[in-house]
Amino acid sequence: MKVADRIAQVPASMTLVIAAQAKAMKAEGLDVLGFGAGEPDFDTPDHIKAAAKKALDEGKTKYGAAAGEMALREAIARKLNEDNQLPYQPENILVTNGGKHSLYNLMQAMVNPGDEVIIPAPYWLSYPEMVKLAGGVPVLVQTDLSSDFKITPDQLRQALTPRTKFFILNSPSNPTGVVYTPSEIKALGEVLLQHDVWIVSDEIYEKILYDGAEQVSIGSLSRDLFERTFVSNGFAKSYSMTGWRVGYIAGPLEAIKAMTRLQSHSTSNVCTFAQYGAIAALEGSQDCVAEMLAAFAGRRRIILEAIAAIPGLDCPRPDGAFYVFPSIRKTGMTSQDFCAELLASHQVAVVPGIAFGEDSAIRLSYALDESSLLKGMERLERFMRSRFF
Ligand code: GLU
Repeated sequence: MKVADRIAQVPASMTLVIAAQAKAMKAEGLDVLGFGAGEPDFDTPDHIKAAAKKALDEGKTKYGAAAGEMALREAIARKLNEDNQLPYQPENILVTNGGKHSLYNLMQAMVNPGDEVIIPAPYWLSYPEMVKLAGGVPVLVQTDLSSDFKITPDQLRQALTPRTKFFILNSPSNPTGVVYTPSEIKALGEVLLQHDVWIVSDEIYEKILYDGAEQVSIGSLSRDLFERTFVSNGFAKSYSMTGWRVGYIAGPLEAIKAMTRLQSHSTSNVCTFAQYGAIAALEGSQDCVAEMLAAFAGRRRIILEAIAAIPGLDCPRPDGAFYVFPSIRKTGMTSQDFCAELLASHQVAVVPGIAFGEDSAIRLSYALDESSLLKGMERLERFMRSRFF
């Protein structure tokens, strides 16, 4: 059988493959420690689950509007206005099957064959594939430790061409955890305003910040930037709702309408009662977010200390998200070989940096419990000492 060309060129998502592999090994009875997918280990907070259960009991089990329940779109608009200083109306919001789907819809609805999308590398692995699936051309701009894995205004300027459709900004970033400062975002905004280009701001990790790092939404900096920005976000990371599949995209009305038409022919509305859980997430107490953040902060301290004590790993200090992205350059191995050997010999699952466009590093998600985290770090240290140093 020959599958369509458009899908033949796209590999499976390595984050999901590795998570599935770790789960399968665990099911076989192996003691695998999973640092693979970025999935908080906390249960979804009770008040969110209660709201979804209530919605089920009340019969919120039917088709809804393709763009999402109006009550949820209103709650999201309020959140974007209050938390992010983005003056969106509910009509500017499309509720999607997770943050990933919001970006997929955007690329499908807006990218024409040959359109270029600038993506700073390392990048979240689905961005280039989504662009390719829409017939676009991912333009990868390599960043490294010297600029703290951030694209500079000069690099951005050089990458812009008359074919550029989008620039994707992801701060806090997956896989590096770096957070652009407000002045760095402003400097990028100034470059973007000189060109006819749309901005995609993926803000899924906006609430996961450490050591006083500040998250600024690029569209809040000026009316001009606001009018050419799309904001992608969701509930998975902030509220530990990965399996619920509720995300959203906010942006100019015409584009949101186009994405809604697309969604009306593909997935239709997001699971109706799940949307009521999402409303409770936004409108209920935010203490759960603070509690999870405190736990992540503790784990971040542990993992950074542990990695600093392991010979051969150099790790930048991330200010956000729940990933570390240490360099394995000193081992001389490719990231894929490194990860395969680590998993086979020490049952520690991590994601090869090549999946994110950087072969000299590996990504570890520290969204797992503290005792597994400590055990995993011991094994990683044993692996490094026995194999290389
Ligand atoms: N976004 C998370 C990650 O990078 C979850 C898996 C995925 O959707 O890629 O691990």
